[in-house]
Amino acid sequence: MDIRPVAIKKSNEFMIYCKWTDGFESTVTLKHLREQCPCAHCEEDRKAKESKPIFNFKKFSEGMNDLVKLDKIGTYALAATWGDGHKAGIYTYENLRSIFEEFVMSEDEIKKIEDETAENK
Ligand SMILES: [Zn+2]
Repeated sequence: MDIRPVAIKKSNEFMIYCKWTDGFESTVTLKHLREQCPCAHCEEDRKAKESKPIFNFKKFSEGMNDLVKLDKIGTYALAATWGDGHKAGIYTYENLRSIFEEFVMSEDEIKKIEDETAENK
């Protein structure tokens, strides 16, 4: 079966929702999506973090977890542009699906973030 997203949208500034051709749907945080950025640079960062966890905290840059846009690449991937200007990450549908499965948020977690965002408005 051809597994690809049929709907993908930011729920708010912290979360993104995706529904797939096979009916699977889930929400993950933009932070997780960014942390799993598949570009070579971020891949290296993740490997370094695994081997020396204490010394390799990922540097926080302003806007890094703000998803500015997702551009379709052919029929197999989405390219993400982030608020800090990072746009090297091309998420294949396969990769994207594994992120949306691995970091799926529970209804409670989603509600908590929704409540917190509502309070700050
Ligand atoms: Zn990256």
